[in-house]
Amino acid sequence: MKHITIDVLVIGGGPAGLAAALEAKKQGVQEVMIMERDVELGGILQQCIHDGFGLHRFGKRLSGCEYAERFIQQVKAHHIHVKLKTTVIDILKDKTVFAMNAEEGMLKLQCGTIILAMGCRERTRSQVFIWGTRPSGVLTAGTVQRYINIEGYLPGKKAVILGSGDIGLIMARRMTLEGISVEGVYEIMKSPGGLKRNISQCLIDYDIPMHLSTTVVHIHGNNKLEGVTVAAVDDKRQPIEGTRRYIPCDLLVLAVGLIPENELSAKMGIEIDPKTKGPVVDESFMTSVEGVFAAGNVVTVYDLVDDVSITGEIAGRGAAKYLQGKLNQDTHYQMIHSTNLINLVVPQRFRKNNLENHLTVYMRVREEMKKVYIHGTMNDRVCLHKKLNIVSPPEMVVSNIKKEDISDKGDITMAIERG
Ligand SMILES: Cc1cc2nc3c(=O)[nH]c(=O)nc-3n(C[C@H](O)[C@H](O)[C@H](O)COP(=O)(O)OP(=O)(O)OC[C@H]3O[C@@H](n4cnc5c(N)ncnc54)[C@H](O)[C@@H]3O)c2cc1C
Repeated sequence: MKHITIDVLVIGGGPAGLAAALEAKKQGVQEVMIMERDVELGGILQQCIHDGFGLHRFGKRLSGCEYAERFIQQVKAHHIHVKLKTTVIDILKDKTVFAMNAEEGMLKLQCGTIILAMGCRERTRSQVFIWGTRPSGVLTAGTVQRYINIEGYLPGKKAVILGSGDIGLIMARRMTLEGISVEGVYEIMKSPGGLKRNISQCLIDYDIPMHLSTTVVHIHGNNKLEGVTVAAVDDKRQPIEGTRRYIPCDLLVLAVGLIPENELSAKMGIEIDPKTKGPVVDESFMTSVEGVFAAGNVVTVYDLVDDVSITGEIAGRGAAKYLQGKLNQDTHYQMIHSTNLINLVVPQRFRKNNLENHLTVYMRVREEMKKVYIHGTMNDRVCLHKKLNIVSPPEMVVSNIKKEDISDKGDITMAIERG
């Protein structure tokens, strides 16, 4: 077995991993390596050929591939080691990593620090409990995206989409442009899961109907998908009798949510937040295992790649400071709590003396609300007060709390107040 020693090992070459590796290198770390199981760097962005990426960071509407390419060029220029077609299969708490690839076989790495940037995975049919046979033609939206945009295949002629998240909406437009007839988008919730701009640009512009409070209840066909049955659902998301309708189709596209990819993290004993389904992280995006950091969709699913890159940079800086002995590792954390209108908050805890200018807090709300205030309090004192015209579950709320407004002791409670 080949043995490698490395200062910073980044697992995953998507936007989070690229940004993390670059930042660690820029902060003076000598040996940085990205390990990626795919044939190229860029992660999911390589199959996102539509535009809308990088508006915040570059002030331009780039495609996913263009956004990734800007980072890949910098990774090359900074002489960061890259191992492609290499899958990490195990991580031990002492930062020993086992990986494998076809050319070298098994690899054993001893790492100074590790940055987890494995992204997320899509929920499948079995996770949403749809009855019926198991024919071909039932695919997740990301798989359809990969087939069409990278492999050059059309996986069907008539499609039904289940779930109105952004990936499903974007694929509704993409499939229509490629000549697949999209019968409709079905969403079990009362409101859509995706961003308003995607509903407008991907469904309304192409006359694709969306059916809210409706779901797929049965899959038909033996070898190949022949059709699905849809039904309206009540407040408990149970099908309402008398509303069942059969739709002939040869492609069912599942866009039913993303889950942080944390098999490796959980196995090595990292504390996982049941709300985010990713590691509990601190102000430097360090996990509960000392010297192991996490960034991007592995932590929680972000809607903007710009935020993913920022978390990569925070983790990269944290990893560099850790190696240089500049990271305060006091385990007396100050916590960030949230009230019940906020579904999740990242980071979950922090140490004030590791902050540079501010603490960035990412939050997802439970329901759409107009004219609200994001309110942060600490020891009965206000540390953040910000007005927002609208907040909704698909859009991550991002707020910076100035370091000077944060007390040395006590926790922060984040709340949403209606204006
Ligand atoms: C299917 C899908 C489609 C998406 N489409 C859009 C879109 O159209 N628009 C949009 O704004 N956002 C989209 N997103 C959101 C997008 O994921 C994020 O904006 C961003 O790409 C997340 O970056 P990341 O680096 O955290 O993860 P990713 O981009 O997912 O990168 C993670 C990388 O880690 C690698 N990896 C995982 N496990 C291992 C391992 N054990 N060993 C080695 N390598 C490993 C993976 O191969 C992958 O390259 C999509 C997400 C998914 C899952």
